Amino acid sequence: VFFRKDFFFYFWHISDLHLDPTYHINPDRTKVCSSSKGVNASDPGPFGDFLCDSPYQLILSAFAFMKDSEQQVSFMIWTGDSPPHVPVRELSTKLVIDIIGNMSSTIRHFFPDLQVFPALGNHDYWPQDQLPVTTSEVYNAVADFWKPWLTDDAISTFRKGGFYTQLLQSNVSSWPLRIISLNTNLYYSPNSVTVNISDPANQLAWLEGVLETSSQKKEKVYVIGHVPVGYLPYAKNITALREYYNERLVKIFRKYSHVIAGQFFGHTHRDSIMVLLDEKGNDALNSLFVAPAVTPVKNVWQTESNNPGVRLYQYNLLDYSLLDLWQFYLDLRDANKKNESNWKLEYILTKAYGVEDLQPGSLYEIAKQLSLPHSRLFEQYYSNFIVSYDKTIVCEGGCKACQICAIQYLDYSSYTACISREAAWR
Ligand SMILES: [Zn+2]
Ligand SMILES: [Zn+2]
Repeated sequence: VFFRKDFFFYFWHISDLHLDPTYHINPDRTKVCSSSKGVNASDPGPFGDFLCDSPYQLILSAFAFMKDSEQQVSFMIWTGDSPPHVPVRELSTKLVIDIIGNMSSTIRHFFPDLQVFPALGNHDYWPQDQLPVTTSEVYNAVADFWKPWLTDDAISTFRKGGFYTQLLQSNVSSWPLRIISLNTNLYYSPNSVTVNISDPANQLAWLEGVLETSSQKKEKVYVIGHVPVGYLPYAKNITALREYYNERLVKIFRKYSHVIAGQFFGHTHRDSIMVLLDEKGNDALNSLFVAPAVTPVKNVWQTESNNPGVRLYQYNLLDYSLLDLWQFYLDLRDANKKNESNWKLEYILTKAYGVEDLQPGSLYEIAKQLSLPHSRLFEQYYSNFIVSYDKTIVCEGGCKACQICAIQYLDYSSYTACISREAAWR
């Protein structure tokens, strides 16, 4: 008999690497990186710049930090977006494939024996966002890169639609863990290929089928994907996915919340949590995590960015329930100044927010604490949201309302009710 807390293991989560192969120090700051789109880089150094996507050296430093930590992990999840943010004409199918191949082999170089579960991002295609509903040159090429990590079944599903499912081999737990890697880019608003398709690539029907079988077999599931469900925490009334798909996904996730032990996304480049409540808004059903990016890039008109981040989760080996997370980051200004990549711990979730674990009930507790007026904890949450980019930035009023509503309400009716409640309150 094992006590719950004594029997745990770990996995890494990395997201949004966005390699910019053109990054180089140049006296003409408009020429440091194509991802600055002709704008002067702000303060370029060896590990990057807040107006540029990742130099290769930044990505290497992230993996070197993870490897040198000697942290034993049972797997890694990688939630997509390898190519840089540059105009469509500056990339091509070949370049996009080359960059995903480069990132895949970089990961394999650092962690040759590690099981990696990747997911495709909206930038992992050319032209960006337009991921197709049938087999394509990109899906096929990426399937070949990911063959060392995935089973034949997973690879063949992936070739058809850019998604897959696979069991994690475990000799410890009596229950298997199933990974479902979704291609949520099919539901991403700018994807014009899927407009008016009710179930692109039949992924929703497939997802329900996999979850139904998992439920019957008493498996536990981690859902991974790039573009998250729910509402964008930094905007009002905007879902990242088209609303119709968001509603359908939320419905499926509620129905199978007893099977799903965690959900993991990227894409926003920021660090945020969400808790899926039941239809009545009473019970917390699921914990969802959005991991921050490795790339520090922002647009020139944005006031905020994020420091580069990587994260480690701790889970219960017996039932795969999530116990804690360690968020690590690189202080980019400091690293450039010292010419040294001093990756360090930013926070431990249970310690930072005073909860027992990462269970839905605990996240709901955090959400309630954050909602309180003048919550110091919310200031901490917001600093973590931008990965300690700037401690002086405050988020109050409408900014805070959007954050608070996005954490707790993932569907249209509960989210809009929250937004109007918050507005009436002020
Ligand atoms: Zn991204
Ligand atoms: Zn993205």
